[in-house]
Formats: sequence, C-alpha cells, structure tokens
Amino acid sequence: MGRKFFVGGNWKCNGTIEEVKKIVTILNEAEVPSEDVVEVVVSPPFIFLSVVKNLLRSDFHVAAQNCWVRKGGAFTGEVSAEMLINLGIPWVILGHSERRQLLNESNEFVGDKVAYALSQGLKVIACVGETLEQRESGSTLDVVAAQTKAIADKVSNWDNIVLAYEPVWAIGTGKVATPAQAQEVHLELRKWIHNNVGAEVAASIRIIYGGSVNGGNSKELATQPDVDGFLVGGASLKPEFIDIIKSAT
Ligand code: PGA
Repeated sequence: MGRKFFVGGNWKCNGTIEEVKKIVTILNEAEVPSEDVVEVVVSPPFIFLSVVKNLLRSDFHVAAQNCWVRKGGAFTGEVSAEMLINLGIPWVILGHSERRQLLNESNEFVGDKVAYALSQGLKVIACVGETLEQRESGSTLDVVAAQTKAIADKVSNWDNIVLAYEPVWAIGTGKVATPAQAQEVHLELRKWIHNNVGAEVAASIRIIYGGSVNGGNSKELATQPDVDGFLVGGASLKPEFIDIIKSAT
C-alpha cells in the first residue's frame, strides 16, 4: 500500500543542552535505512527545538510537542503554530495523553488544535488511546473512535496527519501492547476512517503505535500489517532508538 514507515521520538520534558547535543550526535552518526524507507522525526522540548534543528542530520526532522489552538497573541506561556512555521519546524505532536490527562485537553480542544496547526502548514502527529480502566471496561474502540471523530469533525484533508495509537496504560510503564493488541486497534481505527472519512485516507494514513516501544520489541510490532511505525518516548533518548528506526526493514 506504500505507507512509508514513520518513527517519532518524543523526548518529552527531558534533557539538558549537553544531553540533547549528545543524542543528536548519536543520531547523526547512525547508519539507518534511507529517507525513502523510513521517516524519522524527533521532538525535543520547545527550548531545544532550534538547537536540534540546526545540528540534526538533514534526513531527520523535528517536531514540537504542542502548539496553541489558534493564532498567537495574548496567551502567556504558549507557542503558536505560526511561530513553529516561522522557525522551519515541520511537525507537531498534538493530543498526547499526558496533555489530555494532566492538562485536561478535551477531544474537541485537540480537534481544534489539529485543524489550526494543519491550516498553518504544520504536519501533525495526532495521538489517541484509552486508559487501563477504559480497556478493562471494554470501551477501547469507542474511546479511540471518539478521539478520532473529534479530529475528523474539524479536518477535511488528512494528508499531513499521522495517527498515533498510544494506550495510556502502556506509556512509560514498560507494559507494551502485544503485537495482536496493537494490530486490533490499528485495524479498527483504519476501518473507522474508511467508514467515516474515506477509503483513500484509510489506505494511505500512517497509524503508528506508542507505549513502551523499545529496541527489543519494535521488530515484532512492526510486522503487523496496520502498524506503520512508532512514537517512542523513553527509548528515544537512548541509542536503542536506532534499532527502533531499523525495524522499518
Ligand atoms: P514511552 O512513551 O515510549 O516512554 O512509553 C511513549 C509516548 O508517550 O509517546
């Protein structure tokens, strides 16, 4: 189907300038499959975006971890989509579960953010995923469908969206979803998109998995037909991130 494998590294709120430069050096020296085979995007905290963008090899790209929901202005502490574009930052992560949970970002708010970021020319890694409670009560598919619908309600062109399925119970816990669990939800998400957005988008959109992905489990997860890559937290700060990138082939 020709969906290019996508590997994102979400550095979250980690690192000193020295550590960030060290990670970039490791990435720059790594031998990985070419850009035609795998798209690699790393997401440092805002304050390090420029440094990373300037030092990072040209076949890897950078993402912000958030941006404001509309045009910038009197919004203390926020960073606007226009500013990211102005700096040449091509990607942004939106709807990460840490922001949904800790900062109460609602489905609708995330949908508005995705729509605004796209309108300004950013590409978006949009995150969805259920909590443990929701999984145990059997509502996983309803939850991810509602999160995806809130984006679909506001967006008509999906070309610049990568959808990240990140079960909350797997994030930072070491409890990775099994390949079958990931595949099940990815397939259902693709079906939902097929039925509610369109067949073409369903066939072409990258649906990536996130939650305790590491150098040891990425290869097997990547064999699943609807797993088109990964969004990696903890392991993206370590040399094993290179192994995860290599699981593209
Ligand atoms: P993790 O985080 O790989 O550390 O579980 C994934 C994410 O939050 O994107």
